[in-house]
Amino acid sequence: MKSHTGIYALLTLVFLSSTCFAQNAPAKETWSPELHVSVYDYAKVSPELLAAAEMQVHRIFRQAGVETVWRNCSENIQPAGCHVIGSTYFVLKILPRAMGAEVRDRADVLGTATLDEKGLGYYGYVFYDRIQRMSEERRLASTLLGHVFAHEIGHLVLRSNSHSISGIMSGRWAGEELRTISEGAMFFMPHESKVLRDRLLSVALKPARPFVVETPVGIGNGK
Ligand SMILES: [Zn+2]
Repeated sequence: MKSHTGIYALLTLVFLSSTCFAQNAPAKETWSPELHVSVYDYAKVSPELLAAAEMQVHRIFRQAGVETVWRNCSENIQPAGCHVIGSTYFVLKILPRAMGAEVRDRADVLGTATLDEKGLGYYGYVFYDRIQRMSEERRLASTLLGHVFAHEIGHLVLRSNSHSISGIMSGRWAGEELRTISEGAMFFMPHESKVLRDRLLSVALKPARPFVVETPVGIGNGK
């Protein structure tokens, strides 16, 4: 059985090398659609850990050809866009512990995404006590948190509650999957990446609705 120290050493090595690869990779010619994520942190995660988890999300979605725009909406002064939800705008809530009967009694559930019967949904939830416990056991630090974020956002954009046999949308993360996560090698499957890009692009390319500006009283122009 491998020791945690061994896994930790490997994590550092592979993470550094993958960072180098990302920097040296040729710029993609195709335009990457944007995915907006508003994060509400009710678990008081440290800013450093949250920023590191955000980097993981950014890296995972960039590999799928999607750029993420992250908003920390827990601050007193919220950045613009925190109250927008829509086809490319999603909300992630970090809860201190699982709530809701269907997940509270299942200690193995790390997060959930709320989808209606048509597969539409904008809210994902992650359960920080469970993620923190598993991260400490496996020495995964912010990595696991970032991967759970990406998984739940994946459900929302893919509009599906179903799971894949492997990759970030697999439904059960045990030894093999956690090792892949620690190596920074868990991503969306190619067909999932295509659906993510196509879905976000189809929304982004729709003609914008007419922008309505109300004419101030007294400056009416007769239209
Ligand atoms: Zn899932």
